[in-house]
Amino acid sequence: MPRKIRCTIENIINHGERVYTVDLVPATSVPPFRPGQFLHLTVDDYDPAGFWPESRVFSIASSPSERRRIRVCYSVKGRYTTKMEQVLKVGGEVWIKLPYGDFVIDGANDVVLIAGGTGISAFTAFLQSLTPQTVRHVTLIYGARTPALFLFQDMILSQVDAVPQFDAVFFAENEDAPFTRQLAVHPKAPACYAGRISLDAILRLPPSVLRLPSSVFYLSGPPVMLSTLSQQLLARGVSADLIRTDAWE
Ligand SMILES: Cc1cc2nc3c(=O)[nH]c(=O)nc-3n(C[C@H](O)[C@H](O)[C@H](O)COP(=O)(O)OP(=O)(O)OC[C@H]3O[C@@H](n4cnc5c(N)ncnc54)[C@H](O)[C@@H]3O)c2cc1C
Repeated sequence: MPRKIRCTIENIINHGERVYTVDLVPATSVPPFRPGQFLHLTVDDYDPAGFWPESRVFSIASSPSERRRIRVCYSVKGRYTTKMEQVLKVGGEVWIKLPYGDFVIDGANDVVLIAGGTGISAFTAFLQSLTPQTVRHVTLIYGARTPALFLFQDMILSQVDAVPQFDAVFFAENEDAPFTRQLAVHPKAPACYAGRISLDAILRLPPSVLRLPSSVFYLSGPPVMLSTLSQQLLARGVSADLIRTDAWE
């Protein structure tokens, strides 16, 4: 049962290019949720006796085990996220209601997770939960405008290092030499391609990184990316029931 909770803004990270991470401290403990679920966030004051105000939805980037802190990441796109950029301040308050959604990764299969921009938020709790004992293979394909916008990159690279069955491949529209050097010295040397996420490049990955045809594809990110990549996957013969999207509509 979703619950409405008042939260204090504990921290805001400005990643540049109007992308932000926001840490919220809920006034009461949050209900149980699963990695991949999302919340509604409103910047307006909410009277529990009245109607829920206008809000937008954001994937919950923090782990379900962290019940006293909730993290979301957002990218300014339209009117409402512009308002968020203007009014969200450390120490200020917002209301959230959660949990929602069924974009939950099924534990039975190898998986390919494709994230565009802040779409990574739908996968972070799952990625954090991987352990060296993880049996099925997990491939993360992560695209962003610049390497500075690879949110959670320290967590991702440390999990690539720690979890034998986890590989990550990055796509950066604008390259950046320090990030490329950082990947080169990493024990598994994850690849970083220039440009947008390319299915051709993904399908050329070695079988050690991409397990086809056993993998289920999970896509999270802006609507254009989701529709383009899911159509391309279908055109390449990937069955529709192996493609799951976190529809950002
Ligand atoms: C499941 C899911 C998870 C998401 N996770 C993230 C995330 O982690 N990070 C992130 O940056 N974005 C996420 N989004 C997208 C986010 O919710 C916003 O839709 C997106 O940022 C658009 O920006 P905006 O709201 O500023 O645009 P706006 O132009 O203000 O609105 C965009 C859309 O919101 C809807 N809308 C318009 N008016 C209203 C209203 N009064 N009440 C409710 N809806 C209205 C309409 O569909 C409109 O097209 C997610 C979306 C979904 C569906």
